[in-house]
Amino acid sequence: MKLFAIFGNPVSHSLSPLMHNGALKELGIEGCYTRYLLKEGHRLREVFLSLKLDGANVTVPHKEDAFKACDEVRGIAREIGALNTIVYKEGKLIGYNTDAPGFYESVKEFDAKRVLILGAGGTARAVALYLKEKGYDVTVLNRSEERLSFFRDKNLKTFSWSDFTPSSYDLIVNTTSAGLSDDSLPMDESVLRELFKNAKYCVDAIYKETPFLSLAKSFSLRVKDGKEMLLYQGVIAFYHFFDGAFSKEEIKRGMIKAFE
Ligand code: NDP
Repeated sequence: MKLFAIFGNPVSHSLSPLMHNGALKELGIEGCYTRYLLKEGHRLREVFLSLKLDGANVTVPHKEDAFKACDEVRGIAREIGALNTIVYKEGKLIGYNTDAPGFYESVKEFDAKRVLILGAGGTARAVALYLKEKGYDVTVLNRSEERLSFFRDKNLKTFSWSDFTPSSYDLIVNTTSAGLSDDSLPMDESVLRELFKNAKYCVDAIYKETPFLSLAKSFSLRVKDGKEMLLYQGVIAFYHFFDGAFSKEEIKRGMIKAFE
C-alpha cells in the first residue's frame, strides 16, 4: 500500500488529493493520497518520516522548508531554492520542483519568445528560471524592489513598478496573488492596457478567470488560467513518485477523470 500526502497551511482547499487519488485508481494502484495541515515547516522531514510516506507534495508556505528537508535535490529546483515534490527512495528524501515544468507544459504550444512575468515570489522564480532555461527572453516586473535581486543574480531583466519602461512582450504571465480573492489587477491598468496592445497571450497562475484575464480577453488575446499548470505539476509529481513506471499520458487521463 502506497501512501502520499500534501503538506500546506492552509491545505483543506488543495485539489491534489482528488487528482492523485484519481490517478491511483485509474492505474489500479493500491494507495492513498491525503492532506496534512503542517503549521511548522521545519517539522516537514520529521513528519514525512513518521508517517512513512512514499512521497509528498508541498504547498504554500512550506516550499523553501521542503528544499531544506531533502537529502538530495534534482533538476531546476536546485536553482529555484524551493520545491513542491518529495519522493522517498532508498532511505532518502529526493526533492523536485514540478511547478516549473508544469507551467512550461501549459504554455509550450504558444508561439512566444518575449515573456513578461508579473510578481517575484516563489511561482515567479520557478516560471522565470525554467523559461529562461528553455530559451525564452524573460523579464520580471514586481510591485516592490526587494525580491528582484534573486532574479538579477540569475541574469534576468528586472523592473519594479517605479522604474518600469514598457516594451513589447508576446506572453504576459501573472504570478501575483492579485485577483485571487479580490477584484484587483496585478499592476496599473493603463500600463497593462498598453502592454496588451502588443501581446499575443496571457496566462494567470490562479485557477480561475481573474480581472487580469478578463481584461486580456477584451483585447482578443489568447488566455489561460492556472488549471493546466496545476494539472501538469501533478502529472509530473506522480511520474516521479513511481520513478517513471507510468506514462504521463495515462497519469493525466486518471487526473482528468477525477476532475470530471
Ligand atoms: P508569493 O507570496 O511567493 O508572491 C506573491 C508576489 O505577488 C509577490 O511578488 C508580491 O509582490 C506580489 N503581489 C501580491 N499581491 C499583489 C498585488 N495586489 N498587486 C501586485 N503584486 C502583488 O506567492 P506565490 O508565488 O507562492 O503564489 C502566487 C500565485 O500563484 C498565487 O495566487 C497562487 O495561488 C498561484 N499558484 C498557482 C499554481 C498552479 O499550479 N496553478 C502553483 C503555485 C502557485 P511584493 O514582493 O511587492 O510583495
